[in-house]
Amino acid sequence: MIEVVDITKSYTIGESSVHALQGVSLTIAQGEFVAIMGASGSGKSTLMHILGMLDVPDSGQYRLMGKDVGKLNGDELATLRNNVAGFVFQQFHLLGRMSTIDNVMLPCIYSDERRDFRSDALARLEMVGLGHRADHRPNQMSGGEQQRVAIARALIRDPMLIFADEPTGNLDTKNSHEIMRILTELHQQGKTIIMVTHEHDIAAYADRVITMQDGKIIDDRKKEDAGRRSEVSGEPMKLDHQPLFKPSRMLGFVKQAFRSIAANKIRTLLSVLGILVGVASVIAMMALGSGARASMEERLKSMGSNLLSVRGGSAKIRGSAQGSGTFTRFTRQDVEAIAEFSPLVRYASGYVTGTAQMVYLNRNWSSTVEGVGIEYGKMRSTIPTIGRWFTSDEIRSRRKVAIIGTTVASELFGNDDPVGQTIKINRINFRVIGILPPKGFAGHRDQDDAVLVPVTTAMHRLLGRDYLNSIYVEVTSADRLDAAKEAIDALVRKRHKLQPNDEDSFYIRDMTEFQQMLSATTETMSMLLGSIAAISLVVGGIGIMNIMLVSVTERTREIGLRKAIGARRGDIMLQFLIESVGMTLTGGLIGIAVGVGVSVMLSTFAGWAVQTSIFSVVLATGFSVLIGLFFGLWPAKKAAGLKPVEALRYE
Ligand code: ADP
Ligand code: MG
Repeated sequence: MIEVVDITKSYTIGESSVHALQGVSLTIAQGEFVAIMGASGSGKSTLMHILGMLDVPDSGQYRLMGKDVGKLNGDELATLRNNVAGFVFQQFHLLGRMSTIDNVMLPCIYSDERRDFRSDALARLEMVGLGHRADHRPNQMSGGEQQRVAIARALIRDPMLIFADEPTGNLDTKNSHEIMRILTELHQQGKTIIMVTHEHDIAAYADRVITMQDGKIIDDRKKEDAGRRSEVSGEPMKLDHQPLFKPSRMLGFVKQAFRSIAANKIRTLLSVLGILVGVASVIAMMALGSGARASMEERLKSMGSNLLSVRGGSAKIRGSAQGSGTFTRFTRQDVEAIAEFSPLVRYASGYVTGTAQMVYLNRNWSSTVEGVGIEYGKMRSTIPTIGRWFTSDEIRSRRKVAIIGTTVASELFGNDDPVGQTIKINRINFRVIGILPPKGFAGHRDQDDAVLVPVTTAMHRLLGRDYLNSIYVEVTSADRLDAAKEAIDALVRKRHKLQPNDEDSFYIRDMTEFQQMLSATTETMSMLLGSIAAISLVVGGIGIMNIMLVSVTERTREIGLRKAIGARRGDIMLQFLIESVGMTLTGGLIGIAVGVGVSVMLSTFAGWAVQTSIFSVVLATGFSVLIGLFFGLWPAKKAAGLKPVEALRYE
């Protein structure tokens, strides 16, 4: 069954190298019970690890049932171990988090068979006399009992080979003999058993004793009555690979992952907290950002998005040297001409502005007076909700009526109702007919600190001007903005008989520049908020990675055991990835709830504009999975790359 030829193995520690095996050749037939003896350090374990396919020799040949084991890669060896070998170690290597029966079933999750193995496991436990302890934890059992559980685990996959490295090394005499009785029984059932021991009375159970010294076999003798091995037909070796991502297999891994997450509650909680805070802040920040954008857009809409303003003077010199250059002075006839401009223009309104002193009883207030046309109310959304807008008759006949902003109203009237009252604007009596809808601040300017009067009244009675400061034009649709600009430009040139070189005497401006500036500002703000949140997510991810690395180190022996009983690289990798994604996803989902909660609180208690979107929830979920994958990858790779023997030896 087993045939090794001229096997060598050496270890290098710093400068010196230890030749653990120096040319070992050995043949073991099916059904034999072999004991390997020798002094400590003679290479017994090394040999057993190689025979058990837990380790590979430096040189030499190993044939198992005629198959060249040396040609197999790590995953194929793992599958082989899972199918043909069972291991019993001196240190038992049971997983403390799991019940006895789960420990016994552990090799099954790495097999390709899918069914409920509980009854199988229970049968094995009964065979070693522990059927009644199935739900106990390993740490509730004596050493002898634990080793019997380990034997039950070695048997769960019905292996042909059983490897036992000093199985009685940690046990007292009574328990040792109980273990040996079980092994003898297995031998009688036809199992091939290879056992390392340094006690003669233990070796006496075997029917062949091999003695080693300094990495060589120095003695190999069979008992007289050996050879009564039962006829067992060798099962065909199963080496075929099934895909890793079989749903049933995944389910087993997910269960394992959650068990180990649950085993370290406080630690898991703390590292999940990092992700939770990160995701919650992403959600809340994005809600704030889009809330800000939405309220900005709302405000832009009230400014009129299809709006053009036509002004006298040069666009270039406005602000600094406005006095110089020529001005086109617009009149109400210009407004009418532009207003006729269908289908490009929907509304047009003349506009004049100046400052004025307002008086009501003994109160004084200086504010901006704006003279506007009938259409201005619709164009700039300034139609009062308290009181009313101007009538065309009032505008035509220069009536002394005013609509005042909320700031002016509270300065002059306090809590009294201004509508219907008479105020003096530059010593002229005006009747207040309405209050402007509040608009808030635009930059430093209080948009509510203004008084609207008919444009005619403002020009001829208040400000003493016969021209308009500008003309506001609402274009029928935003995509006609440029066409409208050109048409109005041509019209104004024609009406004012401008020469081509008089270009700077008026200019047409649209609101898009202003809009772009505003949306760029909100964009920057959202980006800023978003990146702060993203940073906290990354920090959370690093926390997860840290805890996963600790976990890998802590569970090195567990990983070694899992590999010994047949876990492939991908299995271990998947287990750790599922654990880290499980943690980040849990944190993510709770974080979403917290983030939404915080957003709602911000809007109800602080009155901030927030807008939670499904998109941000999906994004945050996706991100927490990605972070789990990304930051779990390195620890998982580290775990998967461990060599079974080294991992098992890890202290
Ligand atoms: P035994 O099981 O017979 O006591 P081992 O097979 O464990 O002996 O070890 C044989 C020799 O190889 C010893 O000298 C031991 O120090 C050395 N050795 C075993 N494993 C390692 C290792 N991982 N690194 C370095 N040296 C090792
Ligand atoms: Mg040893």
